[in-house]
Amino acid sequence: DMARRARRGHQCYLEGQDELHLRQLTLVRDLQEAVTQDQLTLVYQPQLDARTGRLSGVEALMRWHHPSLGFIPPDEFIALAEHSGHIHRLTRWMLNKVCAQLHVWDRQGCSLVAAVNLSAKDVTDIDLPARLRACLAEYGMGPERLRLEVTESAIMQDPEHASRQLEELRRAGLRIAVDDFGTGYSSLAQLKRLPVQELKIDKSFILKLEESADDEIIVRSTIELGHNLGLAIVAEGVETTAARALLERLGCDTLQGYLISRPLAAEHIVDWATHHQASLSEEQTP
Ligand code: C2E
Ligand code: MG
Ligand code: MG
Ligand code: MG
Repeated sequence: DMARRARRGHQCYLEGQDELHLRQLTLVRDLQEAVTQDQLTLVYQPQLDARTGRLSGVEALMRWHHPSLGFIPPDEFIALAEHSGHIHRLTRWMLNKVCAQLHVWDRQGCSLVAAVNLSAKDVTDIDLPARLRACLAEYGMGPERLRLEVTESAIMQDPEHASRQLEELRRAGLRIAVDDFGTGYSSLAQLKRLPVQELKIDKSFILKLEESADDEIIVRSTIELGHNLGLAIVAEGVETTAARALLERLGCDTLQGYLISRPLAAEHIVDWATHHQASLSEEQTP
């Protein structure tokens, strides 16, 4: 009987695996159409200057509404796009969309800097620098309008090649941030050699900051280390006023998280910025 149960367990396991596999196959197949059928959108999450409280930028985050499977999280479909070779198409779409959106906001009197996420395959794509230049040029924008977020693990897949390419992008005037910092394996020596200007501390260290003495030590020393290397520090996953206050006290430069705002549809950003600016002015004039 145990054997039968074990076999049944095994079967369930296989069925679970098959289901997952089927979902992945479906998603990979449908990624092809996601761009052309307008199933992808971008949402934008505000980032604040920790010292002044002012809006300093937005991070563009991709969303996929699959026609039958519904909302697919980017952590799921970006990885699939990387493995199946669709990522270049998605990144090209995203960069064009972000630059077009910055241009729209400019015309509405709201000039912003946008952070965009790049995957490992993008970082080593030799066409990327030219594509970025073309996107910016099309909307008459300077390189300072984009910040590139690259995870430690993406850089470490091919550190030599990635560093060379990031160096070229930095020389072209783009700001580069190491995303999800603290979750990868890069050593301090490697970090010093990388052509980056910002460290973005992973949200896993920020989410329980007020309760966890360990996390506080990690965050405190990352900020110190980063500043000593001349890097600006961004914290993502700021969900509570206590975490925000602590990060401000520790000298963190930029804050992002649900406490400040969830990611918003593009058409809500200008209103959000206006209200935010008004609430800051109110605080300053009692
Ligand atoms: P990421 O770049 O580290 O983005 C931050 C993630 O944290 C986003 O998840 C954001 O919605 C979420 N977040 C922000 N504030 C909070 C908070 O206070 N609490 C919590 N719990 N979460 C918060 P999202 O949008 O699901 O994106 C997940 C990841 O997918 C991103 O992580 C990024 O690695 C990837 N991604 C998203 N858009 C793109 C894209 O256009 N291209 C590429 N290559 N990757 C993307
Ligand atoms: Mg990011
Ligand atoms: Mg991150
Ligand atoms: Mg992440």
